[in-house]
Amino acid sequence: MSTAPVGVLGGTFDPVHNGHLRLAMEMATALNMAHVRLVPCARPPHRGAPTASPGQRAKWIRVAVSTEPRLRLDDRELLRDGPSYTVDTLASMRKDMPDTPLCLIMGRDVFAKLPQWHQWERIFDSAHIVLIDRPDIDATLDPEASAALAKRAVDDVQALHDTLCGHIYTYTPPPLAISASYIRQLLAENQSPRYLLPMAVLDDIMDAGVYQPQPATAATQ
Ligand code: ATP
Repeated sequence: MSTAPVGVLGGTFDPVHNGHLRLAMEMATALNMAHVRLVPCARPPHRGAPTASPGQRAKWIRVAVSTEPRLRLDDRELLRDGPSYTVDTLASMRKDMPDTPLCLIMGRDVFAKLPQWHQWERIFDSAHIVLIDRPDIDATLDPEASAALAKRAVDDVQALHDTLCGHIYTYTPPPLAISASYIRQLLAENQSPRYLLPMAVLDDIMDAGVYQPQPATAATQ
């Protein structure tokens, strides 16, 4: 295989933060990827609706990656109707990049419940999975996820370059205790999340008034 793999990091990105960005950079470097795509989902099938709009979340990613050629926004899930199924996203990327290995990046906590995803086994027809071991998160694997890992695990990064899809590679990046929910919590409490996310993204969040504390409603008599 001559083309370097492309990484795919899906998520809500409500908002994008340095945990996502640093993880994507670590992956691009450690796995020698051409680039990593951050793919915001429109309607996450497994959790409640995001607070920020799809347009806002995509704009913040675009701003955050604008000076780093190895990171990109891929907004295809925002441009299609219906739930954001990863299997459809990967199949659509595979059509666009028929000769490029694709690496779906996901935390062990997410992988643990992968068999609950829509047509989860078909993911391996389009992509490898890079399993991010986060020592801070204890996740017991679903038996089917465990069986998939036993069958597909590879130890050598080169396997992700030599084939288009089908392997699972485990990687442990340096942990960064940052989450979008913590950032939303700080903003809702009128505290600053500065340095947890790019300044330009935070400036835009403040300008747009997203995640801000709701003004107290006047007491009724
Ligand atoms: P929330 O706090 O709202 O649940 P989040 O910060 O976990 O959000 P998501 O958009 O759900 O962000 O995450 C997208 C992907 O990024 C997931 O695979 C998640 O495991 C990973 N991720 C998020 N934060 C970190 C972090 N600090 N370190 C490594 N991976 C992270």
